[in-house]
Amino acid sequence: MKFETKVIHAGVEPDPLTGAVMTPIYQTSTYKQDSPGVHKGYEYARTQNPTREALEKNLAALEKGYGAVSFSSGLAAMDAILKTLESGDEIISTNDLYGGSYRQIKAIFEKLGIKSKFIDMTDPENLRHAISDSTKLIWVETPTNPMLQIVDIEAICKIAAEKGIKVCVDNTFASPYLQTPIDLGADMILHSATKYLGGHSDVVHGAVICKSESDYEKIKFVQNASGAVPGPMDCFLILRGIKTLHLRVERACQNAEKIAKYLRDHPKVEKVYYPGFESHPGHEIAKKQMKKFGGMISFDLGNNNEEAAMKVLAATRYFLLAESLGGVESLIGHPASMTHGSIPPEERAKIGLTDSLIRVSVGIENGDDLIADLDSSLKNI
Ligand SMILES: *Cc1c(COP(=O)(O)O)cnc(C)c1O
Repeated sequence: MKFETKVIHAGVEPDPLTGAVMTPIYQTSTYKQDSPGVHKGYEYARTQNPTREALEKNLAALEKGYGAVSFSSGLAAMDAILKTLESGDEIISTNDLYGGSYRQIKAIFEKLGIKSKFIDMTDPENLRHAISDSTKLIWVETPTNPMLQIVDIEAICKIAAEKGIKVCVDNTFASPYLQTPIDLGADMILHSATKYLGGHSDVVHGAVICKSESDYEKIKFVQNASGAVPGPMDCFLILRGIKTLHLRVERACQNAEKIAKYLRDHPKVEKVYYPGFESHPGHEIAKKQMKKFGGMISFDLGNNNEEAAMKVLAATRYFLLAESLGGVESLIGHPASMTHGSIPPEERAKIGLTDSLIRVSVGIENGDDLIADLDSSLKNI
């Protein structure tokens, strides 16, 4: 099955009771048993729910894994992965990381004895030097957020495999339409399905997709034992969003390419971070591991000028000032004060995350309208 067919058909069977073409929302907490322990495979909805199962089968097919396990948010999904570690284990992560992921590692798991290192993985050799005897998990985000650095997934997985260490890739920014890390050697995939998979900014949801049955069983155990499960309505919405994933991401990529070029030529913009540019240090790797360059762009107005950034943010009409990304509508944000506020200023400065940096998530509106919107907003500085 090709990708465009999988998004519609994988895991989705017409309802056996009625023939309903769309997966019903099984809004129930429990299931009647014929006699104690004799049932149709469904006992209690934290453990099993047919709407959730359809979504999980679909996600496993898209990411080419053995199985998928879904959660009430992306961070709940990450929490389940980190709970498979033990006190004393170490996680090595990319240093340009989603703010909430950084906070979870530092503020929740460090206390429980999980050690962590944050390194620049754009040079995979840095990983080789960082690995210690206690390293049990490599955490990769690519393209990174918000600096849009590219990490060579295959190279990282090779180094990790030599040492028998698992790799999890946060594939939220690329989506499985652009990038399938399991093909490149990854063991687990994390998704904040809140973003491109859901695609309509109307639901919070997360998932882990595992290459092996043994990892799948471990994550599945945490899903039931810790209990951060998504509701059936949320699963339905994600499943519905996924049906147009290829069309939406394709269009967002087209718009982003146009907008990135426009910003690069603008005299008030000092620097544009976009992996589609040949001048981007990760361009060749992005070309190798991604189908297109994604819908995310960051740009810097220069001089750490927060005031200028604030003026631009306040004046756009279609680019809505909001956190999040990957929806049909375009969004604009200020990482230093919004998504990355929980990362200390010294850490932010190290990666170039200045106070004059603006991030946009390009939607699927008309590209010329979006450029006109940015153009009139940039006239304010
Ligand atoms: C949003 C996001 C998360 C967290 O997901 P939630 O659904 O908000 O909990 C994790 N990683 C990345 C890259 C994200 O963009």
